[in-house]
Amino acid sequence: MIKRLMVANRGEIAVRIIRSCKELGIETVAVYSTADKDALHVRLADIAVCIGPPKSAQSYLSVPALITTAVRTGCEAVHPGVGFLSENSNFAREVKKAGLIWIGPDPDVIDLLGDKVTARDTALKYGLPVTPGSPGPIAKKDEAVAVARECGYPVIIKAASGGGGKGMRIVWKDDDLEENLTIASNEALANFSDGTVYIEKYLQNPRHVELQVIADGKGGVAILGERDCSVQRNHQKLIEESPSPGVTPAMRDAMSSGARNLFSSLKYCGAGTIEFLVVGEAFYFMEVNARIQVEHPVSEFVTGTDLIREQILVCCGQPMTIDPDNVQLSGWSIEARINALSPGKVTRLDVPGGPGVRFDSFLYTGATVSPHYDSMVGKLIVHDSDRQKALTKLLRAIDELEIDGVPVNTETQKKILSSAIFRSGQFGTGIYAQLEATL
Ligand code: ADP
Repeated sequence: MIKRLMVANRGEIAVRIIRSCKELGIETVAVYSTADKDALHVRLADIAVCIGPPKSAQSYLSVPALITTAVRTGCEAVHPGVGFLSENSNFAREVKKAGLIWIGPDPDVIDLLGDKVTARDTALKYGLPVTPGSPGPIAKKDEAVAVARECGYPVIIKAASGGGGKGMRIVWKDDDLEENLTIASNEALANFSDGTVYIEKYLQNPRHVELQVIADGKGGVAILGERDCSVQRNHQKLIEESPSPGVTPAMRDAMSSGARNLFSSLKYCGAGTIEFLVVGEAFYFMEVNARIQVEHPVSEFVTGTDLIREQILVCCGQPMTIDPDNVQLSGWSIEARINALSPGKVTRLDVPGGPGVRFDSFLYTGATVSPHYDSMVGKLIVHDSDRQKALTKLLRAIDELEIDGVPVNTETQKKILSSAIFRSGQFGTGIYAQLEATL
């Protein structure tokens, strides 16, 4: 097994990865920007190296600084975490070129899945249904009109390289297509350095359902149940749960067999997520995220697995500890993302506890929430025997969470979780809009 690994990330995911490494007996190297010099991931790692100023482009996104640090500190592997360079095939290639292990799938597999247009083609090839839409990128208004009319309005223009809900525009009629094509393409270019866009039918109030996958790179694929991530604001996830209240065992089996086929054929290695939109009993492939995801803890709770450990094991050529043919799902888990409403310094922190409660965060009393990075400061995750009990537990845990000095979104989260529609389990991605006036 490897002895030392660099975590090319910050915040709660860096802390999360360091924790698994400690349990695996792997030393960790943290990297940090000057804004993060007192950050928890820096304090928990065995070695910490400053890689640049606060701006991500000059620190957490600086491939040369990261590679130099990994090599100089004698690391054998690099874990990219989530966001930043986690799905950047160029970074993955540089890591491998430096003779280090990339904790993720092969860069060619990242390329194949990272572009949503090619990913749709790949999914179709392996028998997964995709949303009706353009067969390839769309550049001209006439093509767009033809595709939109064939799909039927409304349609959604999406960035091929998109992520984090950016570069998407919903269009209701021919007249609005041209302008939105330009806006989406410009937004995509600004955010992803790639202005390629395509068109899909815009499904009304679907569920967002995704499967957690661990694959060993030799065709072995474990599917660790699904997550429902329908509670979103501006296409960004707020609350996630496993299992999904809208997925029947038959649907789970059908989605899983398609996913297994896809990941196995690609000789995928590491952790991955395959995302679907679900309407009634029908499901449509949306994309693959070729990395660990923020919401992975709900799958860890219902399967009793440490997904970061499994990810490191398979990428280091070790067998996974999960039996792919015998994954048991137990109970219900719900996660609420805790987002800072403004930056600041934490003057007091009281963390909830008790059975089945987990708080993944980089906060401590005295920690700084910097304006330079993502506003998510932590995740509160609970597990109990059924959905009702898990929901009661999460509301109890949120009440125990006290953060002074930095305002967070707990009141909104409580209102969503307490709403009749969330409690009923019968909702889609429109739930936030439906509740917005009450939040
Ligand atoms: P990103 O990679 O930016 O997260 P996704 O493709 O995963 O983008 O989509 C994010 C969210 O956008 C989905 O969870 C869903 O709410 C919405 N969405 C995307 N495509 C469609 C569609 N065809 N119909 C309806 N909603 C969609």
